[in-house]
Amino acid sequence: MTVSASAAVTPDFLARIPKADIHLHLDGSLRVETLIELAKAAKVSLPSETAEGLQTLVFKEKYADLPDYLQGFGLTCAVLQTPEALERVAYELAQDCIAENVPYIEVRFAPQQHTRPGQNIADVLRAVDRGLARAAAERAASPEVVSGAALPFRYGIIACAMRFFLPAFSPSYAELFDALPSASLPEIHGLASLELARACARLAADEGLPVVALDLAGAENGFPAVEHQAAYQAAAEGLLYATVHAGEAYGPESIYQAITKCHADRIGHGTWLLAADRVTSASVKDPQAYVTRLAQLVARRHITLEVCPTSNLQTLPEIPDIAHHPVLEQLEQGLPVCINTDNRLISRTTPARELGLLAAARADTAASLRPVVLEGFRTAFFSGSPAEHAAYCARAAALYDQVAAVP
Ligand SMILES: [Zn+2]
Repeated sequence: MTVSASAAVTPDFLARIPKADIHLHLDGSLRVETLIELAKAAKVSLPSETAEGLQTLVFKEKYADLPDYLQGFGLTCAVLQTPEALERVAYELAQDCIAENVPYIEVRFAPQQHTRPGQNIADVLRAVDRGLARAAAERAASPEVVSGAALPFRYGIIACAMRFFLPAFSPSYAELFDALPSASLPEIHGLASLELARACARLAADEGLPVVALDLAGAENGFPAVEHQAAYQAAAEGLLYATVHAGEAYGPESIYQAITKCHADRIGHGTWLLAADRVTSASVKDPQAYVTRLAQLVARRHITLEVCPTSNLQTLPEIPDIAHHPVLEQLEQGLPVCINTDNRLISRTTPARELGLLAAARADTAASLRPVVLEGFRTAFFSGSPAEHAAYCARAAALYDQVAAVP
């Protein structure tokens, strides 16, 4: 079957095609009703007890700046402190994605923000895996999947190390500061990441848990990825993949570090990859040549940019609308790009909505949007065999074409 070049990208089309969401934060993607319930149970006070109130005060469509965007995470992390709560939100997230024809997701979060004495990194990751696995098992038995009309639900878990944290961020971080009173802040950040990478590598190797990659999240400006080089080395030696939030709140040199110091297989956001005017290092004599060579390397090595348009529009006021988003030029240059939500609750979005934004800006047809949608499946840190991954991607492409062929 061939894709009709003229098939229009309508909301119905976007709802029906299979989609992947591989840049998706667990703690930014709760159901608002679940947050309210969990907060009551955990005695966490919220600025409002209703979904409407929280959507007016915290989870907004527009944010003043990054700190405004980030305040919601304080609330969601506060209620996600037990294995039961983590398992529940992971299960519900999978269910919400399945309901939207998003059969493949990679869920990321920072385990060390949920650990405490008696609840270690492994406990936290196992809880999230239980929720996702339960949803996957239920979906596998559904008539749509059994008949082959829909893809089975598959997932990976990505563990986020943090570029920056303070003792107040979690009991585990506080213990680390207490135990290492002479260490510098960068040393403590790097050691926490190293411990996380080792724990993830062990879980993947010894228990077969689908912890597929290490990520680096948090304040980018002033907290360079190079401080986490040892952690990424341990992840690589543990056969984990690497992704790094980079080029979002800092320029191309942050992406350079992610690739040269952290073995990045993918880049989270990568918004400013082509922004020569954001190169700050005095040692770079020709910023334009620098970003051109960096982009060449990203394309040649197929280091996919995990672009999250709405999130960027909400936190980067220098991008006034999607028509000015650097993703348009990145795609024109042929760079590998996939489209993701970042945070379903905090950005108030879905994969279909994000693809719709891009499609409107580029006047996409089904045929021109196809490579962007399928890139999310292709570049996945798929936990099955290479043959299974290839078959899964082929099935996603066939289902896409089936939807595109129906007028
Ligand atoms: Zn992110």
